[in-house]
Amino acid sequence: MFVRMDALIRGLHHVTATVADAQEDVDFYVRLLGQRLVKRTINFDNPGVYHFYYGDEAGTPGTIMTTFPYKGMGIRTGANGAGQIETTSFSAPAAALPFWRKRLADAQVPFREAPTPFGEEALLFDDPSGLHIRIVGAPRDDREPWTRPDIAKEHAIRGIHSVALNVRHPAITAELLTEMMDSRQVGEDAGITRFAMGEARPGTIVELTDASDDPAAVNGLGTVHHVAFAVATAEDQLRMRQELLKLGLGVTEVLDRQYFTSIYFREPNGVLFEIATLPPGFTVDEPLSSLGTALKLPPWEERRRALIESHLPPVEVR
Ligand code: ZN
Repeated sequence: MFVRMDALIRGLHHVTATVADAQEDVDFYVRLLGQRLVKRTINFDNPGVYHFYYGDEAGTPGTIMTTFPYKGMGIRTGANGAGQIETTSFSAPAAALPFWRKRLADAQVPFREAPTPFGEEALLFDDPSGLHIRIVGAPRDDREPWTRPDIAKEHAIRGIHSVALNVRHPAITAELLTEMMDSRQVGEDAGITRFAMGEARPGTIVELTDASDDPAAVNGLGTVHHVAFAVATAEDQLRMRQELLKLGLGVTEVLDRQYFTSIYFREPNGVLFEIATLPPGFTVDEPLSSLGTALKLPPWEERRRALIESHLPPVEVR
């Protein structure tokens, strides 16, 4: 391997999961967790399914959680295991955890205390599809949160904190992260190794959990599909692509995702990684003030809008 002189990876871009019911998903991420639905579009690889993007006001990379609600489409329920992102963590101020305990209890969402080995308090619970979601009480997160009337700024989620990968051979993923993905090890305890980029702030953190004895994960409803890392420009993305190809990894062509461009590859333990550009972002096809209110289709699907809309269940943001 080699060490690049300049960092190309800026942090996490988004996390994408396969989920079940569309309305339950919107209710959970918007009404309960207080995220903004910043884009209501379709799965570009399967136009019969929504693609929801949740995040801060603008859907800033590093705050974005995205879902494909596949209920009723014949997709099996997934299972956690090795070669998978098992837990997606959101960041909130440490002093806000009492607020979140009460909010989860009031919503009858079972949760448990799950302090990290690195000194943070955290709450662990499942989303309606069974995804493992954690709210980490994080220091040093100065990202401006999206709020709603029943979630004050002092309590609001700031964005994605980290993803936790279950892997059979942590050392090979660690090598990729440190030598290729501009990360460094910032902690190790209890079989969990934490990596981060830049100043190691929330939104730049990847945890590896040693899952050498676990069965292989099964992709499906209630599991994370991939994690995306951010690069600043299309040029940086092409550089990353060349470097990954040189390592012998199977990397896709650059794909147009309308709000960014993407390349995908499987890291050596089998977890699907994406590298996505920061621009152009979610205001490319609707204004900031009305993000997420209308079904947006990529230009190449507009001629099929009536057909697509007729197959999607109605959803309400409330
Ligand atoms: Zn993605």
